[in-house]
Amino acid sequence: MAQSSTLGYPRLGKRRELKRALEGFWAGTLDEAQLVETGRAIRRAMWQVQQQAGIDLIPCNDFSFYDHVLDAICLVGLVPERFGPREETVSLSTYFAMARGAEGIPALELTKWFDTNYHYLVPEFQGPEPALASTKPFDEFVEATTMLGRAAKPVLLGPVSLLLLGKHHSRPLADHLAALLPIYARVLERLADAGAEWVQVDEPVLVQDRTAEELALVRQAYRMLGSLSHRPKLLVQTYFGSLDVESWHLVTALPIEGIGLDFVRGTENLSLLNEHGFPAGKVLGAGVVNGRNIWRTNLVEALELLEELAEHVDPALLWVQPSCSLLHVPHDVRLEEHLPENVRALLAFAEQRLEEVVILTRGINEGRSAILAELEANAEYFRLGLDASQLYHRPTRERIAALSEDDFRRRSPYNVRAPLQQARLQLPLFPTTTIGSFPQTQDVRTARARWRSGKLSDEAYWQFIRERIADVIRRQEEIGLDVLVHGEFERSDMVEYFAEQLAGFVLTEHAWVQSYGSRAVRPPIIFGDIYRPKPMTVDVSRYAQSLTAKPVKGMLTGPVTILNWSFVREDLPRREVAYQIALALRDEVRDLEAAGIQVIQIDEPALREGLPLRRKDWDDYLDWAVKAFRLASSGVRDETQIHSHMCYSEFNDIIAAIDALDADVISIENSRSQGELLRAFQDYRYPRQIGPGVYDVHSARVPSVDEIESLLLRAAEILDPRQLWVNPDCGLKTRRPEEVWPSLTNMVEAARRMRERYLARVDA
Ligand code: GLN
Ligand code: ZN
Repeated sequence: MAQSSTLGYPRLGKRRELKRALEGFWAGTLDEAQLVETGRAIRRAMWQVQQQAGIDLIPCNDFSFYDHVLDAICLVGLVPERFGPREETVSLSTYFAMARGAEGIPALELTKWFDTNYHYLVPEFQGPEPALASTKPFDEFVEATTMLGRAAKPVLLGPVSLLLLGKHHSRPLADHLAALLPIYARVLERLADAGAEWVQVDEPVLVQDRTAEELALVRQAYRMLGSLSHRPKLLVQTYFGSLDVESWHLVTALPIEGIGLDFVRGTENLSLLNEHGFPAGKVLGAGVVNGRNIWRTNLVEALELLEELAEHVDPALLWVQPSCSLLHVPHDVRLEEHLPENVRALLAFAEQRLEEVVILTRGINEGRSAILAELEANAEYFRLGLDASQLYHRPTRERIAALSEDDFRRRSPYNVRAPLQQARLQLPLFPTTTIGSFPQTQDVRTARARWRSGKLSDEAYWQFIRERIADVIRRQEEIGLDVLVHGEFERSDMVEYFAEQLAGFVLTEHAWVQSYGSRAVRPPIIFGDIYRPKPMTVDVSRYAQSLTAKPVKGMLTGPVTILNWSFVREDLPRREVAYQIALALRDEVRDLEAAGIQVIQIDEPALREGLPLRRKDWDDYLDWAVKAFRLASSGVRDETQIHSHMCYSEFNDIIAAIDALDADVISIENSRSQGELLRAFQDYRYPRQIGPGVYDVHSARVPSVDEIESLLLRAAEILDPRQLWVNPDCGLKTRRPEEVWPSLTNMVEAARRMRERYLARVDA
């Protein structure tokens, strides 16, 4: 009989209990025993809900107090020396020090988990020799197995993924791996001793392009682990994409008992299977319901897929599962009482995914006739949802169908636009500006919360926002910034603010998805065609501009970022959804221009992270991502200056795409990796204006004038000084006013010194 299985489950708790417990523990209001007990209660709930749904293979060790990669780092004892002497078992205080830093000791680097919005802590491979330094997998296995009354399935991050996701490798990769493998061997032996039948070993790095050397590591690892005489059965699990021909041949030949594949995003896995067959006697973990998105599975289609797979695999060796861990979806759609019924009917969060997996397992075991009622109900959901008139917006579809090349380009090339903009804006050399948001202090958040709950009237709330705008404009003028911003006080989040106003989106109340540690986000849901019922930012921008003779930047979130940070409908290609958002923004840009706004910034911090996992898919993504930005930004006159802003530092490989945005000015996060960014511009002659961030907004430090000046001097060696803008790395929303104003004052002074130097040079 086929079995139902899951790869991992959301772990913050249905009411984000872990968030509260962690924050209490860090603040000192909760002790370690209470935190540990909260963890235990959350795990119990995770296992219970899966058992009650009827899942056969329930994972354990997928819970984490912060991050599962950090758990793996502790398991193999890769605690960098800066966190103190080696501990036999990594303590909770060392664990959180690695996650969050401790007095003067920087935390591990936090970075994106593949192409998700989850962040993991990056392993460092220059520290001590690996050593078993955690009992978490064993403890949680015993805990789960006792509760479930049968063996749970421990989940481990595989040694090759741990290695390749890491940095600072001090030796050849094969040597590092050789040092890790004995630890993994001991873990497997101990799990076997405890009674584990199966272990799921996650190797998601296999869905990315890998060199022959890297693939050899996979062979090295699983030949060694496979040959252990005393171990559980191993299922090597991949997700977020497909294997390719080389990795397919490699993985199917490993001495392991099972292979887990993603058939939702990894569409090529099916062709590989059909072409090359599946090795006899091995389990196929078949990811057939989407673990990354929240739309109900079309059960008939999923069943057909399973039936096709069952032609290659003995049904007794088939595991029906989500395509990846359910970590990436919220808990339970039933908590969303205020969603429109026809939208809610189309959604499946983690608990609903469990039902789907169980129904499909029954369908493959007992035949379609056994699940007819469920299939009919599923078809009915789609009918109910698709009937809804909100899904389809004819004018938007017609506009997209009618787009021509001209809609994607500015009227004149940059060399014509630039002097027109300068004639109007009269900016000095090294113009200064900020990225948009100013500190969202407690009073701002309180006012918004009171307004949302009806305790503050619209009038009083907007009056409050206007006062904040007036204040921030006055202070920017005082310290002498050149291009001002209104401060974004009216926005709780740069995507949510627009999602609330655009048609086609809904927002949820409880649909939190972990981002890292105690942090979670509630991505908006794009369920229908997107359009703009009315202007979204014009009032605040016009008001801010009315207060000053200096230019105030209009501030918008770009189409690619809104798309990448939302749950996107699946019946339309992403390109098309991006163009719909872009058209709404294009109208907003034009309205801003008509309201007298001369500089408009369209932020695209998520452009880079949307990059596909395989390089062969990059061109297609970058093509529509760039076009979406251009569609949003190009409807203006030559005199209107378009800015964009991007975060995260690996720009080197997409610099041509950044150039292709054709923004007049870009600002880029830079101060944490100064050298790297500038190197990119050494090799690539960027033709327009650019502000490499000179004030690290992720640190509470106030940078000195000298420090900022020296960053600018370095930038001016690589880029033409006439190209350079002076600005912080990113928005100032999370910083305190006490840090922000002195820092900006120093930044303005550094720019003034630069002007002096370079004007002197020009005169001479
Ligand atoms: N304009 C936004 C801000 O200043 C940009 C934020 C971001 O890049 N993440 O907050
Ligand atoms: Zn940013």
